[in-house]
Amino acid sequence: MVNYRYLGNSGLKISEITYGNWLTHGSQVENDVATQCVRAALDAGITTFDTADVYANTKAEQVLGDALAGQRRESLEIFTKVYWPTGPGGPNDTGLSRKHVMESINGSLKRLGTDYVDLYQAHRYDTETPLEETMQAFADIVRQGKALYIGVSEWTADQIRAGAALAKDLGFQLISSQPQYSMLWRVIEDEVVPASKECGLSQIVWSPMAQGVLSGKYVPGQPLPAGSRATDEKGGASSIRRFLDDDVLTRVQNLRPVADELGLSMAQLAVAWVLQNDNVAAALVGASRPEQVAENVKASGVTIPAELLARIDDVLGDVVER
Ligand code: NDP
Repeated sequence: MVNYRYLGNSGLKISEITYGNWLTHGSQVENDVATQCVRAALDAGITTFDTADVYANTKAEQVLGDALAGQRRESLEIFTKVYWPTGPGGPNDTGLSRKHVMESINGSLKRLGTDYVDLYQAHRYDTETPLEETMQAFADIVRQGKALYIGVSEWTADQIRAGAALAKDLGFQLISSQPQYSMLWRVIEDEVVPASKECGLSQIVWSPMAQGVLSGKYVPGQPLPAGSRATDEKGGASSIRRFLDDDVLTRVQNLRPVADELGLSMAQLAVAWVLQNDNVAAALVGASRPEQVAENVKASGVTIPAELLARIDDVLGDVVER
């Protein structure tokens, strides 16, 4: 079963392996498979689910809401996000203006079939809207009870500091940052993590398996595995492309002895690796089939000794993005 960690300086506990539905629900996988994945997550003790208004052009929220229908709401943590830089409609149908934030939360709640989300996250930083306006809108949403906590995603260290200070003045707290983080993508370590620690946020990290690449299933010189994200022409293939480089894939294969030594699959090693960082509250893992969920949750509670962490660094060398 999965362990739980506190999110930032709050009393909210989340499952350290959190289920995310980007590219899968409402897109790559049929709804019955999506429901089976959610069921596998619940069976394994995952209580935290992450989505966004923009995923599958709003369909992902609907599919997740349907899959969670009938569950005890108090036993779940449902996270969603607002604002993607390329909005679908009019000039205000995007951004972090008061108008868009207030309208977007209502649409998300409706699709998710819930009166409130546990965490409402700014999906990106909006350079065109005054931060004060966004933070005031978030404060009002919290006061209205439509979101219990507020987080951000892919904000820089300075943006986190500024947002956290304003939130404090307005009587609420930013408790989380949602950045990309994996053995292959460590950009947050130098600045975002220290700023987050200083301001009381923890990380909920996306693509901890580098979209499946760190599972070791993409072997250089061999055909792409059928049904994998790399073959998903609805969006997966283009998003995973950055990792499908022969040098990267060869080095990933060289991690296999480390996983073997720990008695883990490579997928489990990848998820366990991000959880070794004490500022990471959860690995946000996706799945295209229920068996993957069952496999990945076994990364919870694993300790990777320092000597093996150093070996991972040696094996990956300069393909790591820092
Ligand atoms: P991962 O790195 O965990 O990749 C998940 C994918 O890897 C699965 O869909 C599956 O794809 C493959 N996979 C999973 N487990 C296994 C396994 N055991 N063996 C082999 N392959 C496996 O994360 P995602 O990229 O899916 O991102 C996770 C979540 O993070 C998203 O759902 C979303 O909630 C969040 N996110 C947030 C972003 C942000 O900007 N805030 C951006 C992107 C994601 P397949 O079987 O199709 O190959």
